Amino acid sequence: MPEPIHADLQCLVTGASRGLGLEFVRQLLARGDRVVATCRHPGRATALNTLAGEHPGRLHVLPLDVSSARSRDELVRELPLVLEGARLGLLLNNAGVLQGGERFGTVAESDLEASLRTNATGPFLLTQGVAPFLADAGTSQRGAIVANLSSEIGSLARRTEFRTPSYAIGKAAQNMGSVLLGRALAPRGIVVVALHPGWVRTDMGGAQATTAAGDAVSALLAVIDRLDAADSGRFLDSQGRELPW
Ligand code: NAP
Repeated sequence: MPEPIHADLQCLVTGASRGLGLEFVRQLLARGDRVVATCRHPGRATALNTLAGEHPGRLHVLPLDVSSARSRDELVRELPLVLEGARLGLLLNNAGVLQGGERFGTVAESDLEASLRTNATGPFLLTQGVAPFLADAGTSQRGAIVANLSSEIGSLARRTEFRTPSYAIGKAAQNMGSVLLGRALAPRGIVVVALHPGWVRTDMGGAQATTAAGDAVSALLAVIDRLDAADSGRFLDSQGRELPW
């Protein structure tokens, strides 16, 4: 079992109601971390609330719609109350949305905008908002990790066909956000990476996907655990291999 992050630090996961986000919360709790899990509708997040009951005092569930400025501001206001003086050692910008069935000729502006808000501008602005709570590098510990769940579909170099344009454009924009956040936070020793989880069996990935959520998350946590300052601004897959932008 991998080690939890430093005892004084906590993890913040977005989009934790289901899929990879829920699995991140499960595995972080299992290894002893303290987690702030966010989702759009905490009252309906049965699996998360069960986990909170099983791990008293180690999991806080807070509302967050990452695409909403008001919701992000509310989270930033509430965060110090649950952190109780601790900092964040890991921010997982996991919430994401994929619009299926798009065809060239009928791509809707509203789908492009929704993808940009949830996949790109939302996580960028959330990271900016919670930056004061991210742990700085110190003599005995590395700086916080900001892991942005990206996708190989957002790689310009890998696009060989017209597919899921709203998602592809949103994730490509998110990738630029990851690089820029890495530059902005480098003086504090905070590491920002874009991570591709593989094709994973979740609501988004579908039943045909090749990888179980548990396997994808354990592989990604192993990659995250190995990161150091030199990795900031990189685009990595679940084996830690570099992907082309
Ligand atoms: P999923 O099963 O569709 O779950 C998406 C999660 O994001 C849900 O918890 C959902 O919450 C949340 N979410 C959506 N819009 C949100 C918003 N505006 N504010 C807050 N939360 C929101 O997707 P997944 O497969 O777990 O994907 C997780 C991440 O991995 C995404 O960023 C995705 O792009 C990336 N990824 C996945 C795959 C794959 O094969 N699965 C591949 C590459 C990258 P609700 O329950 O409220 O809807």
